[in-house]
Amino acid sequence: MSTFQAPKGTYDLIPPDSARFLAVREAIAAPLKRSGYGYIETPGFENVELFARGVGESTDIVTKEMYAFETKGGDRLALRPEGTASVLRAALEANLHKAGNLPVKLWYSGSYYRYERPQKGRYRHFSQVGAEAIGAEDPALDAELIVLANDAYRSLGLRNFRILLNSLGDKECRPVYRAALQDFLRGLDLDEDTLRRAEINPLRVLDDKREAVQKQLAGAPLLRDYLCDACKAYHEEVRDLLTAQGVAFEDDGRLVRGLDYYTRTTFEFVHDGLGSQSAVGGGGRYDGLSEMIGGPALPSVGWALGVDRTVLALEAEGVTLELPSTTSVFAVPLGEEARRVLFTKVMELRRAGIAADFAFGGKGLKGAMKNANRSGARFTLVAGERDLAEGVVQLKDMESGEQGPVALDAIVDAVRERLA
Ligand code: ATP
Ligand code: MG
Repeated sequence: MSTFQAPKGTYDLIPPDSARFLAVREAIAAPLKRSGYGYIETPGFENVELFARGVGESTDIVTKEMYAFETKGGDRLALRPEGTASVLRAALEANLHKAGNLPVKLWYSGSYYRYERPQKGRYRHFSQVGAEAIGAEDPALDAELIVLANDAYRSLGLRNFRILLNSLGDKECRPVYRAALQDFLRGLDLDEDTLRRAEINPLRVLDDKREAVQKQLAGAPLLRDYLCDACKAYHEEVRDLLTAQGVAFEDDGRLVRGLDYYTRTTFEFVHDGLGSQSAVGGGGRYDGLSEMIGGPALPSVGWALGVDRTVLALEAEGVTLELPSTTSVFAVPLGEEARRVLFTKVMELRRAGIAADFAFGGKGLKGAMKNANRSGARFTLVAGERDLAEGVVQLKDMESGEQGPVALDAIVDAVRERLA
C-alpha cells in the first residue's frame, strides 16, 4: 500500500469488477441510443449559481452536499452534483432548442459529487447515466423515458425493482395543494427546522425519512385529490401508455420532488434489496426549469439512474452478467526469435478485430502459461525455435485442451474460424 488512500466516500473501480460497471453503463445507454437520444458531455464543474437555481437553493444538495469552491481567478464554481441543470444549460447555450427539432433528446454518463455521509450505496463520488427530453409536453415522452429505464434494468436481468409514479400537478393546481398541505403541516407537532421547511417548501416535508414525522403525515392531503383536469388527463395518459407497454408501476401519492419547476410526472425506481439506499434512479417532468435558469419556456422530462446502486442491485439479486472474456488469444513466445514473430502476430490479430495479448516480461513457459490462464483467453499461441523452423505455431484451445500446429500465415483465419 502507498501512503495514500482513496478519499473518504469514494472507491476505485478496478478489474475485473470495473468490467461489470462498464457493462451496466452500456446497458443503460443502449435503449437510449436506439431511441433518438444523442450523447452530450458537459464539464465536471459549473458556475455554482447554475446549481443553486437549477437544483434549488433550499435543497439538501445545494445547502449541504455541494462541493463549491472559488478559483484562483475568483470564479465561484461547484463540482456537479447532478446532470439535468448542466445539460439544459448546454442545450440552451448551443441553441439546440432553436433548431426546430423538438424535443431535443440527450443522454449522458459521468461522475457526480455530493458531500454526503458515506454508507453502502451512498458515496461522495458516484456515477449516473441520464436522459433528458427537452422542449415537448407529451405524455408519450414521459412514458418513453420510463419504458427505456425499465428496459435497461430488465436487459441487465434485474427483476426486483419497482416503479413508483406520481403527478405533481402544474402551476394551476399545485399552489392550491401547497396551501392545503401547509395548513395541515402547521397543525402538526414538528420541530422548528421542519416547520420552517413547511413554510418554504412544504412538499419536501412529505419526503422526510424520519418515522416519527411519517407517522404524523398519515392523514396529509394528497396531490392526486387536487389535480386540475388537464393534469389529471395527462397523468391518466402516461399511466395508460405504460400499462399498454406492460410496464408495471405503483401509484405513490407521497412521491415528491420539492421544487416548483418539477411538474406533473414524477417517478422513482426502487430496489428492495438495497436497504435504506433503495432508490436506484429517478426522474420526472421539469417544465419550469428552463425559465428558472434564464431560458425560454421549455417543458421537459428526464431521469438519472445511479450506476453504483444498479451494480449493488445486481449483486443483491445474485445476477451475474455474462461478460465475454476480454482476451481471446494469448501468445506465449519461447525465445528471442519467437518473441518477435508472435509480437507481430498479436498485432495482426488485434487489427483483425480479435482481442489478443502477449506474455510480456520475458517469462519462462510456466509463468507465461499462468498469465494466459489468468487472461481468460480461449486460445494460446505457443512458439519455440523448432516451430518457427517449420513455419508454424502451436494453437491450443484452452477449453478442450486440443492443440495443433497452424501455419504462420494462417493464424488469423484459423483463430477467427474457431471463435465463430
Ligand atoms: P437519495 O434519496 O438516495 O439521496 P436522490 O434523490 O438524492 O437519492 P437523485 O438526485 O434523484 O437521488 O439521483 C438519481 C440517482 O443517483 C439515485 O437514485 C441514486 O441511484 C444515485 N445517487 C444519488 N446520490 C448518490 C450517492 N451519494 N451515491 C451513490 N448514488 C447516488
Ligand atoms: Mg440524495
